[in-house]
Amino acid sequence: MTDNASVPSAEEIESRIKNEVRTFLKTHSEEITAADQILIDRAKLLIQGRYLHGFHQLVAVGVDENGKEYVGIQLDNPHGNNSDAEIGLIHDAAKTGAKLVTAVVVHQKRPDEGSEVHVANSCGDCLEALLHHHPNLRLICWVKDELLKIHVRYLVLLPFKKRRAGANGISEHQHHT
Ligand SMILES: [Zn+2]
Repeated sequence: MTDNASVPSAEEIESRIKNEVRTFLKTHSEEITAADQILIDRAKLLIQGRYLHGFHQLVAVGVDENGKEYVGIQLDNPHGNNSDAEIGLIHDAAKTGAKLVTAVVVHQKRPDEGSEVHVANSCGDCLEALLHHHPNLRLICWVKDELLKIHVRYLVLLPFKKRRAGANGISEHQHHT
């Protein structure tokens, strides 16, 4: 009963939980549709060339049930009170009270890193804000190396949720490569 050797290490336990979470997310995900791919391409187009002194590296693009587009651009501020792209997206939709049904965030690397553009995962704070304002939202995001569409409610409750850390414990905050 006191055989500690039979108890896995903290790292092993965390690894097992992450695997369980990945399986959970995949079983509660939806396939990326042609319309979703258009949304991803649209977001990539919007972020390209936005990079300016490190202020704009992320953009969030969402659509309501009529397919109308809303956009949020991440904003770094000199005083450090930065605003994530998702919060900008929530502001944009709030102008008309639209409810988003699908959204995606993309990140552009710095020019000295090659300016590569890729889909990024949201942080825990943004997931909570998105769920609060858009309870029917599905986010296009990475689960390990697979791009899937998942209801934000499944993402927000995950055990590894941290402020500005891996939103779902699966990949780095908004810097999936
Ligand atoms: Zn965020």
